[in-house]
Amino acid sequence: MAQVATAHRKRDLRTTLFNIPKIDLHRHLEGSLRLSTLAEIAHEHGVDLPSLSLEELRPYVQVVDDPPDFLSFLAKFRLLRRFYSSREAVERIAYEAVADAAADNVRYLELRFSPVALALNQGFDFEDVVDWVILAVNRAQQEHDIQVRLIVLTNRHEPQYAPQLAEIAIDRKDKGIVALDLAGDEVNYPQLDPFEAPFKKAKAAGLHITVHAAEAGPATNARDAVTQLGAERIGHGIRIRENIAVMDMINREQITLEICPTSNLQTGTIPRLNQHPLFAFYQLGIPVTINTDDPSISNTTLTDEFLVTTGGVGVPFKALCDMILNAAQAAFLPEAEKLRLLDWFTKALAPYKSGAMLGE
Ligand SMILES: [Zn+2]
Repeated sequence: MAQVATAHRKRDLRTTLFNIPKIDLHRHLEGSLRLSTLAEIAHEHGVDLPSLSLEELRPYVQVVDDPPDFLSFLAKFRLLRRFYSSREAVERIAYEAVADAAADNVRYLELRFSPVALALNQGFDFEDVVDWVILAVNRAQQEHDIQVRLIVLTNRHEPQYAPQLAEIAIDRKDKGIVALDLAGDEVNYPQLDPFEAPFKKAKAAGLHITVHAAEAGPATNARDAVTQLGAERIGHGIRIRENIAVMDMINREQITLEICPTSNLQTGTIPRLNQHPLFAFYQLGIPVTINTDDPSISNTTLTDEFLVTTGGVGVPFKALCDMILNAAQAAFLPEAEKLRLLDWFTKALAPYKSGAMLGE
């Protein structure tokens, strides 16, 4: 009987977490492809793959039984680069990424993407793929109850593209591009010098900056991202817990951490969910947010991540609501728009924060 009651409670909690309007600040377009779409694109365009069967394809593009490891997690993206085979394919995956977020009751989404990943294999122009993504995302947000902004991502191992990507993002700042991100292998490519000039130029032009740091690399990578690249948010930042001076600096400057619990587990950044520092960060006053990172690679949704955060990490419900408001506060929007977003979420979350929607 106790097991049945627990199953009921878990289902009720999942329903509540699904119903809560949510914000995802850290989601990669290239990590959001539906597996069914991958199989269809492969059939239509003859993508050279280890297998065309969806189940046989799964382990190549999704974490299944893989031991936790940062670099093998990143390796999934390499195969995915083969799927952006046409303009239609790029527009389709961008549209579906937004539609899937909306279907999970994500009401504000910042979707990041690498124009190089989308363009390079097929020899597309970076400008073209960025415009295709903008078009598809705009169409998707008109047809769904969701607001979307875009972040142009540059990879640590491809610094040669950073200046051009910064220019492309600056040119499209009024078309939904709001920020630059630096991502990828921070273990073998910790150097920030090649990115300093393009990121400073982007920031001076009014774009925001977020940087993946202190995920697989040391805490000082998060500090350097703030001081050298002007990061206002840090992707993950889990390892700041290893350095009190860096943790104090992140707290003092109120740098928002974009936390992605399942991804952190799969990359080996944390050994177990109950050892995740996100609640400790929250209690210290560091602005923490909950995000998906790569829904299809991690086979997750934002509802799942919230479930993991309450169940696995043990974060109380009220703190979870605060983390959604932290996300609204950290949205890369002009001040007036951000205040409207914050106001809307504050009102929408009030019944949940008071416990009125939890049967308490
Ligand atoms: Zn990420």
